Amino acid sequence: MPEGHTIHRIANDHTPLLVGMPVRVSSPQGRFEADAARVDGQVLDKIEAYGKHLFYWWANGDVGHVHLGLFGKFRVAKGPDAPDPVGLVRMRMRTDAATIDLAGPTDCTIGTPDDRAKILARLGPDPLRRDAKPQVAIDKMAKSKQPLGAILLDQKVLCGIGNVYRAEALFVNGIHPLRTGTGTDPVELMALWTTMVAMLRKGVKDNRIVTVEARDLDLPRGRRIRRGEATYVYHRDRCLRCGTAIQTVALAGRPCYFCPTCQPQ
Ligand SMILES: [Zn+2]
Repeated sequence: MPEGHTIHRIANDHTPLLVGMPVRVSSPQGRFEADAARVDGQVLDKIEAYGKHLFYWWANGDVGHVHLGLFGKFRVAKGPDAPDPVGLVRMRMRTDAATIDLAGPTDCTIGTPDDRAKILARLGPDPLRRDAKPQVAIDKMAKSKQPLGAILLDQKVLCGIGNVYRAEALFVNGIHPLRTGTGTDPVELMALWTTMVAMLRKGVKDNRIVTVEARDLDLPRGRRIRRGEATYVYHRDRCLRCGTAIQTVALAGRPCYFCPTCQPQ
C-alpha cells in the first residue's frame, strides 16, 4: 500500500493538470458512471491529500473521495489526446492538459463536504499537513498500552505511515517496536513525530523512500542512493549502521523490521 508521501505527491503532480479547468469525468469500466455524471464538466477547485486519502473539491460543491488501497493505480497521459483505457478504468478525468485514469481503488466515490468530514473524523493528524496538530497524536500514543510498532500503523492515531516509515522512524529514534506508548516518554514520542514529518517530506520531494542519511553511507560524490541502501532496517538482512542481523516481529498484521542492537528492548 502506498504511504502518505505517495498520496501527497499524486495531489501535487495532478494539480497543474486538472485544477482550475473544466474536467470531463467518466467511467470507462462503468462502475463509477452515476457518480461521474454528477461532476462531469465541472471545474475542479482543489485536490487535497490527507493521509492515504485524496479529496477532489468540485465547483458544484461535491467532494470526491479516492482511496487507492493495495491495488489502486493512476495512469497519466499528458496532452489533449486521450489514449484508449488500459484494463478496468474506474474513473477517467480528462482536460486539455492530460488524461488521468484510475484503476483498482478501494474507494472512488462522489459525496459532500459532510462525507469528507466523516472520513476525517476517523483519522489522526497527518504529519505531512501544515495544519496537523501533533499533540493530538502524541496524547493518543502516550495513553496506549499497544506496542509503538502497531500504534504507528493505526490511522486513527496518525495517518499516512506505512510499513517502511514505521520501521525506519523507530530505528532512527532507537525505539524497540514492542515498546508501548505508555512506556515511552512524551518527549521521545514528539521526537518520533518530528522524524516522521522529516521522512515523509523527503519522500514527497524525492518521490521515493530514502530514510538513510548520506553520512551513514560514505558515498562517492554524486552517486545516487541505491534501493538496497535506502533504509536502515526495512527489508534488510543486516542493520545498515551496525551490521547486526535484522529481526522482525508481526505487528498490525505485518512484519516490523528492527535492529536488536540499535533498538534494545
Ligand atoms: Zn544496528
